[in-house]
Amino acid sequence: MLHQLLKKHWGYDDFLPLQHEAIECVLGGRDSLVVLPTGGGKSLCYQLPALCQSGLAIVVSPLISLMKDQVDSANAMGIAAAAWNSSLSAEQQRIVGRAIREHQLDLLYVSPERLLTDTMLDILATSPPSFIAIDEAHCVSQWGHDFRPEYRLLGTVKHRFPGVSLHAFTATATPQVRSDIVASLNLESAAVLMGEFHRPNLIYHVRQRSAGLNQIVSVMERFRGQAGIVYAITRSRVEQINRLLNQYGFRTRPYHAGMTDDDRLRNQEALMHDQLDAIVATVAFGMGIDKSNVRYVIHAELPRSLESYQQETGRAGRDGLDAECWLFYSAGDYLTWRRILDSSPVEVRDSGLRALQQVMDYSTSLVCRHRVLVGHFGQQISGDCQSCDVCLGNLAVAEDSLVLAQKILSCVARCRERFGADHITKVLTGSSEAKVLKFGHEKLSTWGLLKEYSRHQIRDWIQQLLGQQFLRSVPLSGQSARYHVLQLTDQGRQVLRAQATPSLSRPVQRQAAVTAAAIVDSREGVDPGLFEALRDLRRELAQEASAPAYIVFSDATLRDLARRRPIDELLLQDVHGIGQQKAATYGPRVLSLICDYCARHQLETGLPAIGRVRRGEPSRTPNASALAAFELFDQGMSVAEVSRQMNRASSTVHEYLCEYIAARQINDPSRWVPPELAEKIALVASYADTDRLRPIHDALHGRIGYEAIKIVVACEKNRNKEPSGGSSRDGRPHVP
Ligand code: ADP
Repeated sequence: MLHQLLKKHWGYDDFLPLQHEAIECVLGGRDSLVVLPTGGGKSLCYQLPALCQSGLAIVVSPLISLMKDQVDSANAMGIAAAAWNSSLSAEQQRIVGRAIREHQLDLLYVSPERLLTDTMLDILATSPPSFIAIDEAHCVSQWGHDFRPEYRLLGTVKHRFPGVSLHAFTATATPQVRSDIVASLNLESAAVLMGEFHRPNLIYHVRQRSAGLNQIVSVMERFRGQAGIVYAITRSRVEQINRLLNQYGFRTRPYHAGMTDDDRLRNQEALMHDQLDAIVATVAFGMGIDKSNVRYVIHAELPRSLESYQQETGRAGRDGLDAECWLFYSAGDYLTWRRILDSSPVEVRDSGLRALQQVMDYSTSLVCRHRVLVGHFGQQISGDCQSCDVCLGNLAVAEDSLVLAQKILSCVARCRERFGADHITKVLTGSSEAKVLKFGHEKLSTWGLLKEYSRHQIRDWIQQLLGQQFLRSVPLSGQSARYHVLQLTDQGRQVLRAQATPSLSRPVQRQAAVTAAAIVDSREGVDPGLFEALRDLRRELAQEASAPAYIVFSDATLRDLARRRPIDELLLQDVHGIGQQKAATYGPRVLSLICDYCARHQLETGLPAIGRVRRGEPSRTPNASALAAFELFDQGMSVAEVSRQMNRASSTVHEYLCEYIAARQINDPSRWVPPELAEKIALVASYADTDRLRPIHDALHGRIGYEAIKIVVACEKNRNKEPSGGSSRDGRPHVP
């Protein structure tokens, strides 16, 4: 029943991890805390129960600006939803109030401060909620990175609505924040469901920042025409980067707290509607952003904590397809954050500094990025992730790390720990600039000691030594707080005595090939022209519906459409992310575009799914088209006849046939493959000892088509199962 609703309303075959368990908690009325990473599918955990339970479900969300999108998105799935927040006019409030009293709504989004107003409580007194979900629940915790005072009010919800179960959802919670959420919300015997934080489709890269925007531009160039987010620390940097990117010809717009609400909303909507290459934003942007096709997130500067970094990068690749996360950092960023933190209360400042140090460690160490990130949330991954610069081998440890570090550290010592990174770099590269000569540093034994390396490379190593705490950066006494000098730490002195060894890395020049390969991979079988045509159509449909493009179809859905090219409604509903409602709303125009395009370009239509698009295990249940084909096979039709009758490609019908053979437990292939040939294939297959078809094909000298091999192998699987009375050897079905 839950699976049927999932297919009917969302068009998905399977639940994502923990969705089913989370839904059962809601349906069973047991309080719960669900921690799923961004993109883990939290909304469905309360939307689906809202659909199948009577009564009104309430979702508390801090994101007033996004409630309209959330409501649109729920409505698009066929859920009767509305929002209740301060942006509603008196008339709108009256309409929503009436809809609640008249039991017309399944789901109500409400801001935390509005839930407990007298008006709302009056309305709910007549229709008590079926359950209450609290989105972004980490905002309730003072220990979290995003504490919101208005969330404190939610501590009383349990008393206000006795007997109503409470379900907290968040994408980010360290163990400490988790217990804080349970305590602050007064959850009773709560089930705590912790999702996997590992997001293998995100490919992480970290580099020290070089001057100018070249690094950012080179990432964005590879993704032209696709959406991204660029994060910077301050408003002025956001404005500056945005201006420069415009000059490079990118369609970008800024987003930060210094802009008016209207301007911010306009720019956010432009990104949602696929009208921008990227939005350039401070951390003010993004919580609750449900744009599934963000293909890259670039941190042009250091993020403030690993929690925020995980959340911000988590906005990439929510559709499960590959996406890249780049971090370009510099020592200056650390100082910028420190200045910002200096104006905070002392506890906030101290925990902020600890969090910053963790980000610096992450950036400058050579440990698998995924491992550090999931480790921060108390989880582990095994082996190499193969989706970060460290594991992909894009960064190599310099073999002479110890000697390089000794040269740098001794230069710092010889400059009497009174100069900054810039000056030390100049001395090491043998500069004769006035300042170097003024202090007589050209006479130091360390002058020119690293002249074979670029200044950028040496700055990077200094950065790594800072991050690994062999150096520290302190304000020079008597100078403005802006001038910092490098000093050796105790660990740094140990390096000089060769009692400790830092790991210094340098980039290897092959990252572009690796990441490009990863991107191409997720587009397997997709016809690029059709994909583009479908994107244009999506834009039109979105504009007509005044909805963001991703609400119409996700990128993953467009790719599946451009790969499988359905030409009738039955096939359309088999496409990833298309349920009944979407098929009915958009089906006719999508199908007519696909038919037209494929006829003009002589492309095969009605192709089978490939594993890549589906998340989780592929479904074993035959879809509606396959079942229709089964009936025709039952009537004794050949593959060619079924193909004609159903107007499907022969390759698709062969897929159905193999499913048919499995479903009907047929073990005699002679209806489709001549017996002598079948015998030969079966013999080779029995020696091949593998599920792969290629070795069998090769062993038969490549002369036998894959289709015949697949049929025989499918039948052999049934033969090997030792039939227990229900199967037959004659190719006719016994099992209905
Ligand atoms: P979260 O709120 O946890 O960040 P969302 O609820 O926005 O995640 O879901 C992320 C994406 O995953 C959305 O595009 C959503 O439609 C998709 N999704 C949700 N559940 C499933 C599922 N069972 N199968 C495939 N995709 C899903």
